[in-house]
Amino acid sequence: MSNTEHVTCLIIGSGPAGYTAAIYAARADMKPVIYTGLTPGGQLTETTEVDNFPGYPKGITGPILMDDLKAQAERFGTQVRFGMVTKADLKSNPKRVWVDDTTEITADSVIISTGASAKWLGLENENRLRMNAGGVSACAVCDGFFFKGQDVAIVGAGDTAAEEATYLAKLCKKVYMIIRRGEMRASKAMQHRVLNTPNIEILWNHETHDVLGKETVEGVVVKNNKTGEARTLDVKGFFVAIGHKPNTDIFKGQITMDELGYIQVQAGSSKTNIEGVFAVGDCADKTYRQAVTAAGTGCMGALDAERYLASVGVH
Ligand code: NDP
Repeated sequence: MSNTEHVTCLIIGSGPAGYTAAIYAARADMKPVIYTGLTPGGQLTETTEVDNFPGYPKGITGPILMDDLKAQAERFGTQVRFGMVTKADLKSNPKRVWVDDTTEITADSVIISTGASAKWLGLENENRLRMNAGGVSACAVCDGFFFKGQDVAIVGAGDTAAEEATYLAKLCKKVYMIIRRGEMRASKAMQHRVLNTPNIEILWNHETHDVLGKETVEGVVVKNNKTGEARTLDVKGFFVAIGHKPNTDIFKGQITMDELGYIQVQAGSSKTNIEGVFAVGDCADKTYRQAVTAAGTGCMGALDAERYLASVGVH
């Protein structure tokens, strides 16, 4: 079965970037249609308290924040639809995408806000405690505060892990950094910072074997992969910083990306290499990855799309 529908502004992905783009696009009368993807609301729906999104002095939960953003987008006429964009032909004019492999949409402009997904170790208890908000997190900036004055562990040895370890070290009593090799992948400058932070203890050649705790993290079992020696770290928080994967696979070969799959945008804008296609939020940002920065680029995407549509006489 095949249905085709034409829209002026199609937004793919429903995190803070996508909904903010929708708010601006709807207010500019671009009649945006947003496809949510399989996790409506994106990564924030998997977190609990969000204390760093401006405008909420008492904090807000991730799911409520995303419901609010959705409601705000709908207030101005955005059509929010559950569905996964599974295929795209962005070089054609109009652009063509397929939702759930069946519905075909043609669009004058497309704003990609498909986000990124944190990588996890894949341990059963890591997943359970993460889902229960029990002290397993992939974002130190978001959740480090909850472990003020306590001991935590972080796994990973790239720039993100190094940055997050030093961030955590300012808040926490002690930070164990679990590194699977005898060296770090992080830039020399970041390594230097980690090595010069007295309350970070590096566990070289260590791997994580289990995360302990029923409701909340009560310890982390690590093993030295050279000696086989195991030990339990007495920590209350467990941070995983082993990389993110941008959700951009369906655009490969069409849109210019970096070697990790992050969409490349022209500096200071949301413009991709394809006219009328814009990328916003974490799918185009491996550095900041915050809800508020995603929302900011979402606004840029809508404004860039509006200008593009005006320039081609569509809007
Ligand atoms: P990276 O892919 O660079 O690093 C991932 C780290 O996680 C590696 O040290 C890797 O170990 C480790 N790792 C992966 N899988 C496992 C596993 N199963 N168990 C244990 N350890 C594991 O990801 P980042 O998020 O750190 O960085 C992504 C990109 O973003 C990089 O290009 C980075 O430079 C950039 N970035 C830049 C920043 C800045 O400029 N301020 C800040 C943050 C990121 P191993 O080394 O053994 O493979």
